[in-house]
Amino acid sequence: MARIRTLPDDVARRIAAGEVVERPASVVKELLENAADAGARTVHVTTAGAGEVLIEVRDDGCGMSREDVALAPRNFSTSKIADSSDLERVATYGFRGEALASISAVSRFELVSSDAGDGRGWRVRVEGRTQRPVEPAAHERGTTVRVRDLFFNTPARKRFLKSPLTERRRILEAILAFALIQPEVELHYVDDGRHVLDLLPAPSWRDRVAAVLGGDAMAKMVPVAHASGAFRLEGFVSLPELTRANRSQQFYFVNGRPVRERTLVSAVQEGLRNVIPPRRFPVAVLALHAPPEMVDVNVHPTKLEVRVRETRRVFALVRQGVKLALSPSAESAMGVSLAGIARGVPSPVPGEAGEATVREAQDEHGVAPDNVIPLREGARRATEDFLRRHPAPRESARARWPRGARAGAPPPARDSQARAVEGLREGMGDEALFWQFASSYVFIQVRGGLVVIDQHAAHERIIYDRTRRQIEGSAPPSQQILFRIHLELSLAELEVFRAHADVFRRLGFDLEPFGGTSILVRGYPQGLRNWDDGKLLLGVFDDILNDRAPGDTVTERLVASYACRSAIRAGQRLSVDEMRALADELFAIENPYSCPHGRPTIHRIALDEIGRWFERR
Ligand code: ADP
Ligand code: MG
Repeated sequence: MARIRTLPDDVARRIAAGEVVERPASVVKELLENAADAGARTVHVTTAGAGEVLIEVRDDGCGMSREDVALAPRNFSTSKIADSSDLERVATYGFRGEALASISAVSRFELVSSDAGDGRGWRVRVEGRTQRPVEPAAHERGTTVRVRDLFFNTPARKRFLKSPLTERRRILEAILAFALIQPEVELHYVDDGRHVLDLLPAPSWRDRVAAVLGGDAMAKMVPVAHASGAFRLEGFVSLPELTRANRSQQFYFVNGRPVRERTLVSAVQEGLRNVIPPRRFPVAVLALHAPPEMVDVNVHPTKLEVRVRETRRVFALVRQGVKLALSPSAESAMGVSLAGIARGVPSPVPGEAGEATVREAQDEHGVAPDNVIPLREGARRATEDFLRRHPAPRESARARWPRGARAGAPPPARDSQARAVEGLREGMGDEALFWQFASSYVFIQVRGGLVVIDQHAAHERIIYDRTRRQIEGSAPPSQQILFRIHLELSLAELEVFRAHADVFRRLGFDLEPFGGTSILVRGYPQGLRNWDDGKLLLGVFDDILNDRAPGDTVTERLVASYACRSAIRAGQRLSVDEMRALADELFAIENPYSCPHGRPTIHRIALDEIGRWFERR
């Protein structure tokens, strides 16, 4: 007997219209939810071309009969609701009978399923709304759905997709969310032929969360358990020492389904106010259990956004829940009283690099007279080399520093660069001096005036250029670390590492996978700064996962992120030798005028200009 029914009209109308399928990740999410609804113990996800070429989800759930296979891709066909009253009570994931219909309308769709244990099953194909007749096909008990050429017939949708990297990240996030809330399901994920994820059934929820977020992260998380009326909150939230720059490591679930729900998000933020540094976000995995009739899943077609009734009660529950979870352990872990923190006593938790830098910079806003020394041979030679490579046109020998070297403006053309350096050559006599100002800028006195270098931007440019050249050649020897360290990664980070292991090698890192989600660091690039026990590498992963570094390809973005994070920071005091080396290297590269983000690195103040300030003619 067929279990799937087509919903009566009035029920269908009660279901919010709209498209379920926004992007490849939404297909993955729907198919995973169906697998869970079918009681699957093992799920295999396969994707190709960031989900645009293929998304396949295979499960060993209850499977479907011949009739069900034929009905499943039809609009409002579901085995999960029979009439209106059921709508209120359904506690399963999906229930609108709309997902497969929507997906099959915008792809080349194939469903093979069997509800028998004898290897015989049924197949149906749909190509952009045209459904072919059901035919016999071999299949174990369970279901395989293949979605090929997503959006092939809706080019407008396709145009709205983000970069393949972003779409792949979203797919991974959908899979990770599923993994987090279905700890007992074995889960495998292969992307473009590469094993991204192999998770065995976890003995406990905690074990699964640790497997997904990484053991290091888990060690800094505390359990949350709190209830109010018919609502119950469970999960894990990080101690103040583990925070992120955004909410990408926060996972929320309502009745076992991944959701975005503003009440939950802001309640967590509110609960941890004064505990977590401003503009930082805790890592959180939080599951809210609510009576089904208290949750309205139909506010948004993708079902990602839900509305929980009794918002105030839920808000208070979550705020209180995370607050309580953090209080005792936070107190012992940090050795201070939370009451003190709440009163506004600064948190003893070390801030991220940025904040530390600001503090340092403020301390060092002084003049450092012993940092003034003559420009030495090396810098002059580098400048001369540079000039030889970019000879200045004769008529512009007296031209000024390019106006283009200013924020927002494109880097100056080679011609004007040459002209600019012509000015520098003129000025660079033996009397050139170095001086670091505000621990952030290097002033060089030259004959024609002053050259000011932004030490961070300049160093970033130097490293960026050097590494770009380096990754085209063979990998340089790395500096071996005396005490090798393990870095415990999240699955998403591990995925970045695996996909670009070669780039890391060419940068000079000596890394290798080390079981689970950890990697072993044996060496890093010679002379690396800011290593900080691996925080540098974690920061690079973070930039890539959050699209923060500039560049057209992942490799370019990796290099840019690495350059930015390993560069001398604003606020770092430089020795005379370091300043000299910086100038040396900067003038030896081809385009020294802007950093990879496009900010200028060099500014010149001509002697004439200073003269004009004082109205000297
Ligand atoms: P819904 O999940 O809202 O019911 P879908 O369009 O996602 O709607 O699926 C339609 C129906 O197809 C489901 O109700 C279910 O009966 C059947 N179905 C879909 N996927 C599977 C699966 N992996 N295993 C068994 N049955 C499935
Ligand atoms: Mg469904």
